[in-house]
Amino acid sequence: MIIVKTTKEFNQARKALDGTIGFVPTMGALHEGHISLIKKARTDNDYLIVSIFVNPTQFLEGEDLDDYPHKDEADIKICELSKVDILFVPTIDQMYKNDELSIAAPVIRGYVLEGAKRPGHFDGMLQIVMKLLNLVAANKAYFGKKDAQQLSLIMQMVRNYYIQTEIIPCDIIRDERGLALSSRNMHMNPEEKSRALCLSRALRTATDMVTSGNLNSLSIKEQMLGILQDADRVEYVAIVNREFQETEEIEIGNTIVLVAAWVGKPRLIDNVWI
Ligand code: AMP
Repeated sequence: MIIVKTTKEFNQARKALDGTIGFVPTMGALHEGHISLIKKARTDNDYLIVSIFVNPTQFLEGEDLDDYPHKDEADIKICELSKVDILFVPTIDQMYKNDELSIAAPVIRGYVLEGAKRPGHFDGMLQIVMKLLNLVAANKAYFGKKDAQQLSLIMQMVRNYYIQTEIIPCDIIRDERGLALSSRNMHMNPEEKSRALCLSRALRTATDMVTSGNLNSLSIKEQMLGILQDADRVEYVAIVNREFQETEEIEIGNTIVLVAAWVGKPRLIDNVWI
């Protein structure tokens, strides 16, 4: 595995690869969720590139940028064991210059839910993903459904800007009790982690209600809100179609149920695709 820190070194290492390339962009503190993307990319392609970059422009003022977990040694070990060919760990100076062109999230999908609660977050996220996709020029790039709205916006950006990389959505990985894995989970104590299970429990209830024939979004959201009382604060429960428009009726095959809630220090997000 080659570890590179500058775009120049990256370009050199990238040029030497002759074959299909899979790319997994991350912010590090790797866990089984990231590893599932890495494994899939490893299987599907001749070469595997992983990036680790905690992107400052997608954190809002007062968010947890300074607190964001860093596990450099463990991350390198995981990448080595996963047979990563190039690990790209740029500094902020490598990725951003003064007076840059910037990407703005689209108005309809980009400014609801996460986009409404975290204005500017998706602009920063799209900016860095655009840079990384162009720099890496992979055949396929792998993203988790855990960040459903992010995934949807990246797919839209790839379509709108004719980016040549195919985006591969990957399933959400959970722990044995159902908690969606996240780097931020390490900021919860055992009691908070137990309470955090209410997110996946609420989503399971939504799926069960749909399975038993209830397609009414309002009644499903009401049930979910009852279960989510274990959280410290619920930011939203939403039932949307794949274009992220709220729907009154669930349409099977075209619906995502999402929740964002605070439990202890972290703000958690989770969802299920129906
Ligand atoms: P992050 O390091 O949080 O920016 O995440 C990097 C990638 O891993 C993103 O595409 C995430 O959606 C994905 N990811 C994070 N957690 C999970 C999970 N529990 N299951 C599947 N993918 C995940």
